[in-house]
Amino acid sequence: MNRRISAHYVFPVNSAPIRNGIIEIDEQGSIVKVINPGKEIKEQAGVEFYNGILVPGFVNTHCHIELSHLKNKIPQHTRLHNFVGYVSRFRNTDEQFIRKAIEKADFEMQKNGIVALGDISNNALSIEIKKKSKIKYHTFIETFSLDPALADKKIEEAKKLQQKFSMNNLDSSIVPHAPYSISTKLFDLLKKIMQENKSPVTIHNQETASENELFKNKSGILYETFKSWGIEFQDFYPTGKNSLASVINYLPPNNNCILVHNTFSKKEDIQQANTKLKNIYWTFCPNANLYIENSLPDIQLFYRENQKCCIGTDSLASNTQLSILEELKTIQNYFPEIPLHELIKWATLNGAQALNLHSKFGSFEQGKQSCINLITGIDYKNMRLSKKSTIKVLV
Ligand SMILES: [Zn+2]
Repeated sequence: MNRRISAHYVFPVNSAPIRNGIIEIDEQGSIVKVINPGKEIKEQAGVEFYNGILVPGFVNTHCHIELSHLKNKIPQHTRLHNFVGYVSRFRNTDEQFIRKAIEKADFEMQKNGIVALGDISNNALSIEIKKKSKIKYHTFIETFSLDPALADKKIEEAKKLQQKFSMNNLDSSIVPHAPYSISTKLFDLLKKIMQENKSPVTIHNQETASENELFKNKSGILYETFKSWGIEFQDFYPTGKNSLASVINYLPPNNNCILVHNTFSKKEDIQQANTKLKNIYWTFCPNANLYIENSLPDIQLFYRENQKCCIGTDSLASNTQLSILEELKTIQNYFPEIPLHELIKWATLNGAQALNLHSKFGSFEQGKQSCINLITGIDYKNMRLSKKSTIKVLV
């Protein structure tokens, strides 16, 4: 028998929120229809009613689940140049310990209503968990090296790792880590692969001010720190431009391109990027930005510029939890202008489109999978989340 589920508001996402809307789902777990009861709300037989709003399952477009064992390991506000050092120092440890932490993080995300995930991987440790998880994963196999002599080797390693994911029926793409960690040679090789594959790609973008400084004048704290570690910038050429404008020609123009963090991106960065790339999805991980740099992107600017935005949690190395709802609360707190229905769209349909998963996820539409989250503690008068808002997975 079909189930009918209702709440104070239903957010189908592909259309406006519906007061006392009803979602009908079949026994296979597909959405049959979304009903707008109109002004005359009659008692409907067999309808389950919940206090709160119903939103589709969340799509997290940026995480590194393989860093889950670093929870509470790295101090807050150390800034990116130090954070990178902490991660490389702590990341390699007992594999069983790492796998346990990955499994726990996967479970935490399921509990927090995340149904699909764009996850960065440098190794195969997450494969077994991804295979059996209820979450639909798209893995971004990350490459980085500033040494041009290593570029071919890095690509070979990435291809081998991709094969392991493919053998387990897990979708993946090979991607660059960040503008500041890739030699020109490696970028050239990556561009060819990304263009051929046509699948979604991602890169960390303008996460720290010193990333722009590096490209403008080959200076700044990021440059100094890397130099002090003995990293040579032999195949790196300052451009006099911001980092995004400097590397944009290496990104495939027609793929879905998920730009992550954007903490120091300005209006000119947004405009320039849009002249080169057709399908940009700006992903924000505000709690990680506060954790590492203690600053936030100008998220309101992206909203006003009508950009497609998405939400990520980043990893437990730079976050205390993996919850899209908590990221939305932070955005709403700092940028109250952005309406709730817009934030919900970023956390659902935009993310599903970015990962090419929108035929199944992202909105309440006929034929899509019925992943239904209940959010409680809503301030209905202003249609906002409250500090007390919590999430419960209904279906
Ligand atoms: Zn990241």
